[in-house]
Amino acid sequence: MATAVQAKSHAAVFLEQDKRMLIDGDWVQARHGRTLEVYDPARGEVIDHVPAGDAEDIDLAVAAARRAFEDSDWSRMSASDRGRVIWRIGDLILENADELAELESLDNGKPLGVARAADVPLAADLFLYMAGFATKIHGQTLPISVPFAPGAQFHSYTLKEPIGVVGQIIPWNFPLLMAAWKLGPALATGCTIVLKPAEQTPLSALRLAEIMLDAGLPDGVVNVVTGFGETAGAALAAHPGVDKIAFTGSTEVGKLIVKAAADDLKRVTLELGGKSPNVVFADADLEMAIPGAANAIFFNHGQCCCAGSRLYVEQKVYDDVLAGVSERASQIKVGPGLDPDTEMGPLVSAEQLERVTGYLQSGEREGVRTVTGGKQVGEHGYFVAPTVLDGAGKGNRVFDEEIFGPVVTAIPFKDSADIAPAANETVYGLAAGIWTNNLTRAHRLIPQLRAGTVWVNTYNIFDAALPFGGYKQSGWGREMGEEVIHEYTETKSVCIGL
Ligand code: NAP
Ligand code: MG
Repeated sequence: MATAVQAKSHAAVFLEQDKRMLIDGDWVQARHGRTLEVYDPARGEVIDHVPAGDAEDIDLAVAAARRAFEDSDWSRMSASDRGRVIWRIGDLILENADELAELESLDNGKPLGVARAADVPLAADLFLYMAGFATKIHGQTLPISVPFAPGAQFHSYTLKEPIGVVGQIIPWNFPLLMAAWKLGPALATGCTIVLKPAEQTPLSALRLAEIMLDAGLPDGVVNVVTGFGETAGAALAAHPGVDKIAFTGSTEVGKLIVKAAADDLKRVTLELGGKSPNVVFADADLEMAIPGAANAIFFNHGQCCCAGSRLYVEQKVYDDVLAGVSERASQIKVGPGLDPDTEMGPLVSAEQLERVTGYLQSGEREGVRTVTGGKQVGEHGYFVAPTVLDGAGKGNRVFDEEIFGPVVTAIPFKDSADIAPAANETVYGLAAGIWTNNLTRAHRLIPQLRAGTVWVNTYNIFDAALPFGGYKQSGWGREMGEEVIHEYTETKSVCIGL
């Protein structure tokens, strides 16, 4: 007999639970008992509360991470066993994929289908990829010559050692994925961690913390302190017991992190903002380039550090590309992330809505033409219409600054010799796109672009094996791939006189 009562989803059950943060294997409230509100950005309503941890909680978490780093089941664990725990985390993410995708969609606003197809499997894959590195972190034996000691013999080699206790501060645009990007390699190297998720999107990190305990991670190895950036985040960045800070977020806060870390010269890696050029040449396959350029900016509502927000189009095809991208923009179905028809959800917060609409108004005041979109959608929630702007240039804030919303400025160019200097004319250097069928043109342009990632005839492709990070003010260091392992290790040179 069918029952009329629908079973609650796992995510709904999780939402009903009292939220605590994870310190030293215990689920705890903030020491001061304060909480912060968690919003559903599609309705602009509070859906949950999590602890608002601050400096005192960070102290406890750092002390727990230090104990776990120095003397624990974790510090004594073989590399192979460490790899197995990390692999299990990846497997458990996949087993709980529906729940995690629903939480992510509800908390961040992104379409459920996108969270289920991209955020969650990519997060799992990162752990699965990093699990293999646990057993493959090694130094080298080095034949040294030592000219000032003729005839002497030495045995020399390097050791790769975990950097220690790591503070990880992450943003709200890909909450689960950013946690995975940071936790996976830190765990593979044997570090211990204090993770601070963004105040806007703490839910999936707390659920991931449960998963990590279920996977067999010993107490204190990963501690998750929810709280505000100015309190919990700042305390973590300045904490003398932390050996390294890994940060993703705004360039502005990235600079604060560097200053906070300067007192004790802790290691810092930063993945910051961008204003990425996406270049369409007239010889490109426009049937690919037009949807590609739309995806480059509108994926995740433009809330991507690598969003293709400056669209440079060769003059001959400018009108066609502008019309094509604008048409696609106007067709995107905007709605709540949990609605199966939705292609673009709300922005993450009221603050972000205000920021993005503020940019749109400044463009309008400065005479930039809005081809499509240009305004807020609906009265509830934080929705903005996918927007294409024409005629913006240097001196316009919409052109110069990172908007971090679904807003692209299209710019024509005549001479392909001008494109590299134009594309590079920004303080950022995170990513760039090239659309062309001319192999020579692509290969000549790639080395001229000052960007950490260059996509050719594609955009927004990420993989656990592919390093990601920025030139210039887009950051320090790289996430993912083998490169990130070096960001979580110190090299010790050993020299033995024989
Ligand atoms: P943000 O302020 O840089 O936040 C990123 C993380 O840093 C959050 O966990 C935040 O905590 C924390 N934080 C804030 N102030 C801090 C401080 N003084 N010390 C230590 N940690 C601190 O970014 P946002 O306000 O969420 O977004 C603003 C802009 O950041 C966006 O418009 C975009 O330009 C950029 N952004 C970039 C990325 C990226 O992937 N590169 C992602 C998101 C945002 P709370 O959130 O709890 O305050
Ligand atoms: Mg939220």
